[in-house]
Amino acid sequence: MTEYPNLFQPLDLGFTTLPNRVLMGSMHTGNEDRAKDFDRLAAYFAERARGGVGLMVTGGFSPNRAGWLYPFSSKLSTRREARRHTAVTEAVHDNGGKIALQLLHAGRYAYHPLSVSASALKSPISRFRPRALSDRGVRAQVDAFARATALAREAGYDGVEVMGSEGYFINQFLAPRTNRRTDRWGGSPENRRLLATEVVRRCREAAGPDFIIIYRLSLLDLVEDGQTWDEVVRLGQEVEQAGATIINTGIGWHEARVPTIVTSVPRAAFAGVTARLRPHVGVPVVASNRINMPQVAEEVLARGDADLVSMARPFLADPDWVRKAGTGRADEINTCIACNQACLDHTFSLKKATCMVNPRAGNETTLALLPARRAKRVAVVGAGPAGLAAATALAERGHAVELFEAEGDVGGQFAIARRIPGKEEFAETIRYYRRRIEVTGVRLHLNRRAGVEDLAGFDEVVVATGVVPRVPAIPGVERALSYVDVVRHGAEVGERVAVIGAGGIGVDVSEFLTHRPLDLDGWRAEWGVGDPARVRGGVADPVPAAPARKVYLLQRKASRIGRDLGKTTGWVHRAALKAKGVEQLTGVNYERIDDAGLHITFGPGREDPRLLEVDAVVVCAGQEPVRDLVDALAGRGVTTHVIGGADVAAELDAKRAIDQGTRLAAAL
Ligand code: NAP
Ligand code: SF4
Repeated sequence: MTEYPNLFQPLDLGFTTLPNRVLMGSMHTGNEDRAKDFDRLAAYFAERARGGVGLMVTGGFSPNRAGWLYPFSSKLSTRREARRHTAVTEAVHDNGGKIALQLLHAGRYAYHPLSVSASALKSPISRFRPRALSDRGVRAQVDAFARATALAREAGYDGVEVMGSEGYFINQFLAPRTNRRTDRWGGSPENRRLLATEVVRRCREAAGPDFIIIYRLSLLDLVEDGQTWDEVVRLGQEVEQAGATIINTGIGWHEARVPTIVTSVPRAAFAGVTARLRPHVGVPVVASNRINMPQVAEEVLARGDADLVSMARPFLADPDWVRKAGTGRADEINTCIACNQACLDHTFSLKKATCMVNPRAGNETTLALLPARRAKRVAVVGAGPAGLAAATALAERGHAVELFEAEGDVGGQFAIARRIPGKEEFAETIRYYRRRIEVTGVRLHLNRRAGVEDLAGFDEVVVATGVVPRVPAIPGVERALSYVDVVRHGAEVGERVAVIGAGGIGVDVSEFLTHRPLDLDGWRAEWGVGDPARVRGGVADPVPAAPARKVYLLQRKASRIGRDLGKTTGWVHRAALKAKGVEQLTGVNYERIDDAGLHITFGPGREDPRLLEVDAVVVCAGQEPVRDLVDALAGRGVTTHVIGGADVAAELDAKRAIDQGTRLAAAL
């Protein structure tokens, strides 16, 4: 008897049966573009097939050159290209899985000069203006989809997913925003839908009846001049008639200014919209976005919002998600915390995707935690992300590991991050490691600041002692609070606050200080997510909740605040600061802090003296590494390894910390 009866209900598609209701959504890993990377891709999918997911979808492959995302990116239009896919399909089938290939035509989102679209309208996220297709040109794209479907079938895939959402090519025909045509492919809503239905009809024709065709439908465009709700429903019905087996749902175009997948988006925030489509169509529908744990997935299915749930990033974080959920081990799931740091931020920087909490993702062939040839006694000092990753991976390999932590709990910087509004998911990583410590048999010593004498007798010592906040040399700085005092220990700050330092933590602290708790309706109102039946594309005017207090955010550099935040998440933070009226001051000199507040001047000439009359000053001026132990162990004949913030505080970064800890553990 499973805890998640809906999740583990098989789904009969007529010609094939999926073993459960979990779809692994499409995610570009960066291994799709070159033939030489297909063995890595095969290993990546094989591991996830073994983990028991019902159906997987590959990263996007364009049906022709015009649809490339960028020059020479993944494409399936020739037999030669199809042949390289057999490594993937065989690996998946050998491991009991099913896999569909995603057909993604970039349209005007392409980053190359050959791009095409419904109309010659440049997108805000590519510098290339697309060419408007002729009628013949549109038909050639439809032909390309059909041919790619036949090739996918030849290559052994169980199906294809036609990407019709997120603002890509097909979506560009559907919305008046990007379709200004007056021929049979534009003008009326029926004409705008013709491309989508023709593509599905021709793909079905090419594949035959016993082949899965998923149509990824844009439920909410979240851009102005997107589709109306009636149009979305009609589209669902028409693609069903044209031969779709499953309707997957997509939320928001890439150019939309509403966050749809980052951590601050409430879990399953959009499943309610899928629920509104479901009664109008006869094929199974899939809910997606911010579903990351079995309980959330089960609730979506139990409510009847959808027939399946789609998760993409959670399978980067844990290939065994389904198996763990199905065997009463949900507490062992390495949860995707929706940070985007190692997946989408990499993809959008043209780097290979991996996962912050699972550096093995995409590296299955090169980073293995094999049983150790000789079990060693290893001490790990510090139970932040680096120490936790190292200790548990070492123990998994069979080493006898003792983990020393000066605080009363594990987590380090994550224990601070999880208190930031919208970063609550970091608590899941702490839960995961707590459980993994038990499962792997690490001996944990809490409230224990390890000294040199504690570390005698170990074969290896891993120093992961982390960082302390930097205290800048500002007269009166002893009156200020550190971000640790405020976020972790709840120090009182009053009504007006100045934040010194505008890096990732200064921005987080500003959000923490201005935030008021919101329910799902409040979140929708704050970001302008409207009822799609009332407003086209579901776009409404944002109505931000009033800030909890007045905050000034300051830095010495003259550059724009938040410039170095994550590629796919930075804009959300910058928009949140703006919505909360955080006053951002750059090019600042900190003159002194006294009873009156914070005295500042501007520029090299120390001009425009100004007093910020604040109740509290919070310092977020970076960190210094804690390396006392490294110095104390030097010359004592102990093999010492330094990782995480203790190694490089300037780049205090959980992605590097977990990666470094895991790779060290794999090598010892
Ligand atoms: P940071 O990004 O290095 O920023 C430190 C800030 O303090 C800078 O704005 C710097 O700007 C200022 N500063 C440095 N030395 C100073 C001094 N002596 N006096 C006054 N101001 C000083 O460090 P962080 O904010 O602590 O973040 C650390 C790391 O955590 C980041 O690198 C990031 O990887 C990670 N993180 C990221 C996020 C995110 O992306 N949302 C959130 C949290 C943490 P000026 O020198 O111009 O004054
Ligand atoms: Fe999830 Fe972050 Fe891993 Fe991406 S990098 S899969 S968002 S935990």
